[in-house]
Formats: sequence, structure tokens, C-alpha cells
Amino acid sequence: MAKADFSSPNVLIYPALKTGKLEVIADAMAREVITDDNGKATGVSYVSKEDMLEYQVDGRVVILAASACETARLLLNSKSQRHPNGLANSSNVVGKYLQDSNGTAMGGYLPELFGRKRYNEDGVGGMHVYTPWWLDNKKLDFPRGYHIEYWGGFGQPAYGFGMGMQGINGKYAVNGKKKEAGGYGASLKEDQRYFYGANVGMAGRGEAVAFEHNKCEIDPNTVDKYGIPVLRFDVTQSDHEIKQAKHMKETFREMMHNMGAVITWGDDGTPENKYGLDKPGYIIHEAGTARMGDNAKTSALNKWSQAHDCNNLFCVDGSQFTSQADKNITWTILALSMRASEYIIDEMKKQNL
Ligand SMILES: Cc1cc2nc3c(=O)[nH]c(=O)nc-3n(C[C@H](O)[C@H](O)[C@H](O)COP(=O)(O)OP(=O)(O)OC[C@H]3O[C@@H](n4cnc5c(N)ncnc54)[C@H](O)[C@@H]3O)c2cc1C
Repeated sequence: MAKADFSSPNVLIYPALKTGKLEVIADAMAREVITDDNGKATGVSYVSKEDMLEYQVDGRVVILAASACETARLLLNSKSQRHPNGLANSSNVVGKYLQDSNGTAMGGYLPELFGRKRYNEDGVGGMHVYTPWWLDNKKLDFPRGYHIEYWGGFGQPAYGFGMGMQGINGKYAVNGKKKEAGGYGASLKEDQRYFYGANVGMAGRGEAVAFEHNKCEIDPNTVDKYGIPVLRFDVTQSDHEIKQAKHMKETFREMMHNMGAVITWGDDGTPENKYGLDKPGYIIHEAGTARMGDNAKTSALNKWSQAHDCNNLFCVDGSQFTSQADKNITWTILALSMRASEYIIDEMKKQNL
């Protein structure tokens, strides 16, 4: 199995299964973490997707890794006498400080590359080009930064996707003739060959400021098909995010202009549409809903991803982040998971867990 493109089943779960020490209970929808009279976690209850009945799995330690919002949902649904506000939530921060990366994008064509030479640009995706944050916030009107990812090259060709020829209709000549892009048969093939590899695009991924009022919480009136209460969301992007998106658009426009590209999409930034800032959740880098910190009054987890209120409970996904910088989130999730795992092994050996 190819391992060039990371996914947790591929890279983590199959090798773990091979050790013979892992049992996977599939088709199981976790409902809540079960705790005992002392407030310690004893296991997880789940609904089987096969027979819709409820079961329980016991554990000396419970580790939640359900992604930021679902982990908050599990914690908030795990109410008990010892944890009346939900598990790990005496600080009342679970579900709050919800944040996603800021994102907006722009793209078009580089006429210089029309009819370009073919060569192999196969890769895991993207252009293998990346611009880290490079500016000084003291000279800007927004905090935090963003990085830029680029698209282009010889991706799998498909009419419409990645080609977007309609955007350049009639603007360029093919074999000396002005051309309406599109059509069927020979004309379609001619377009594909001519425009293929000339597209260029870029997207910003920026750090949002974490605010307590941006939150998910249990909807008291709605359950899913397993009978488990669902989340509802209340997130508003601030002026910081909008100004950052404006800066992204201005930067992209300048780059496209300076490289001689024709912009065919994404040059739509106005104050009314928040400069094309993607909606919260669109970039799929949710984080912050069980924040980590030294102070148990203002955070849910300590620096080992361990609940302040329940020492044998750990949350190892994006929920533990207080901030996610401008970097994509997953490597840091993996690093923190590894750190928490080593700590758990160590603490178990010392009989502290
Ligand atoms: C299209 C797409 C592109 C992305 N691209 C990038 C990228 O380029 N770079 C990057 O850094 N990140 C990227 N991300 C984000 C990345 O996928 C997430 O940050 C990462 O998967 C989070 O890992 P996790 O283990 O916390 O959660 P997940 O990977 O979401 O894993 C959670 C698991 O828990 C299971 N689960 C959830 N709730 C329950 C429940 N109640 N009961 C039982 N099981 C449950 C889910 O089925 C899932 O298997 C991308 C995400 C998407 C969707």
C-alpha cells in the first residue's frame, strides 16, 4: 500500500493492528465517556450502527481523538454527578474558542505557458511550492499571519476542473485563430492540449484569533439518528480575519499581475463579501474546543493533553489547541498525540494511571 499520502488508517491503524495489541470496534458511534463515583473515566458507551443497541467498552485510560468538535460533543454529553457541566469542563471552556484557519484564494492562467512542453510533474498534490509568513505585524492593521499554497502544473486533466477554459473564452488565439474554448471532439482535444498546465492559483491559510464567544454547544432540542444530542454552532469572524483576507487578496493580485497571469476567478474581494474570506469551518482545521493550559480555571487540559478534572482522560485532536498559528493543523495534532502517548506509557509504568 502506498504511504506517500498520509491518512491515519493507512499510516497508523494498519501497522498498529499488525502488533496484535489493537482491537478495532468498527461501526460504533461513541455516545459519552463513562465515569465512576470518584469522577474517573472508566470507559466509553457507544451505539452499534449494526443493531442500534448501546454497548460499553471499559478502559484504564480513555483517549478522545474524534476531531475538535466531536470531542467537545462527547465531553459535553458526558454529564454526571461529579461532572455536572460535562466532563473536563469545570472551567466552562469546552466548546468555546472554536477556530478554523482563515482562507481565501485566487487563480487564472499564465499565457506564457500555453502549449507548454510536457514532462512528469506527478506528486502528492499541489505544486510543492509554499510561502511561509514573511511580514511584520507591527506594520500591518491585523494580528497574526498566513502562508500561501500554490496550484498549477500537470494535474489529472478534466474539463472544467482545473482547466476552467470558460474563463478565458475568446481571449487567446490557437493556431492563429481566436478561439471559443469548449465544444466536443477535435476542438475539445485541441483546447485540452493547448491550455493544459497553464493554470495557476494560490490560497492563503491564516491564523484566526481565538475568541471565547466563538463556540459549539449541545443543542437541547436535536438528537442524531442514534439518539445522541448534536452540536449547534455560533461563530463570527472578526475584523482581524477580514483584514487578513483583504491583505491576502491584495498580495495574490500583485503576484498574478507581476507574473503576467490572467486572473479568471477569485478577484472578487469587497468589504461586503469579507474580501472572499471562506466561511468558518470551510478550511476544515477546527480547533480550540478543549484548550490546553496550566490553569485549571481557564483551560480543560494540561500540557500533556490530560484533563485537569479527570486524570485518566486525554484529548489528542485539534480540541487541545489554544491557537494554530498559520500552519495546517495535522502535523501538530500528530506531534501532540505522540507526546501524550509517551506520557501515558510513562505514567502507567509509574502506576500513576
Ligand atoms: C478535504 C480535507 C483536506 C484536508 N487537508 C489538510 C491538509 O492539507 N493539511 C492538514 O494539516 N490538514 C488537512 N485537513 C485537516 C485534517 O484532515 C484534520 O486536521 C485531521 O484529520 C484531524 O485529525 P483528528 O484525528 O483530530 O480527526 P479525524 O481525522 O477527523 O479523525 C476522527 C475520527 O474519529 C471518528 N469519530 C468521530 N466521532 C466519533 C464518534 N462519536 N464515535 C466513533 N468515532 C468517531 C471519525 O470517524 C474519525 O475516524 C484536511 C481535511 C479535509 C477534510
